[in-house]
Amino acid sequence: MSALLLAACAALGVSQAAANTPSGTENDLSVVRAVSGGAFFSPRSSSRLGSGLTRKLSTGFQVALEHLEEHPGCRSLFHGLSHEARESLSRVVYVPASGRQEQRFCSRGVSAFTEVGSSVTYVCRGFSRLAPAKAAMTLIHEALHHAGLPENPNHADMLNSAEINSLVSQSCSL
Ligand SMILES: [Zn+2]
Repeated sequence: MSALLLAACAALGVSQAAANTPSGTENDLSVVRAVSGGAFFSPRSSSRLGSGLTRKLSTGFQVALEHLEEHPGCRSLFHGLSHEARESLSRVVYVPASGRQEQRFCSRGVSAFTEVGSSVTYVCRGFSRLAPAKAAMTLIHEALHHAGLPENPNHADMLNSAEINSLVSQSCSL
């Protein structure tokens, strides 16, 4: 069980995540322009995210883009899912986890979570305390779920969260 402590993400079941998706998310977006990135390659986030999470999101996003650029194996993780890495990353919308979600999902090292295939990633308060490389790894992990990568700790044919982290860490040198 100790491996779960390293998990950066909990992928939710479809019905569970759908029930927790706040309405009006799409109307609550503001484009956060990363330091050196253009609009297309900047993180899209909710204005409710708060300054600490927004800053770490921008930093982690930039580090993620740099490592995707430098490491072909990192981009290959997305190509294997028939997606383009930067495009997948730029399509994800980051929203803050609700108080209830913080209690339910943001524990034991989980700093973000999503639903496989969803373009919405929920960010836990703890994300703001991650080192830039760990933040970047988390964003790539979540973007892989957006691109269709499943996760299941109880299924032998699927990776669990820690295994996905390990894959990203090795492939992207993060
Ligand atoms: Zn995950």
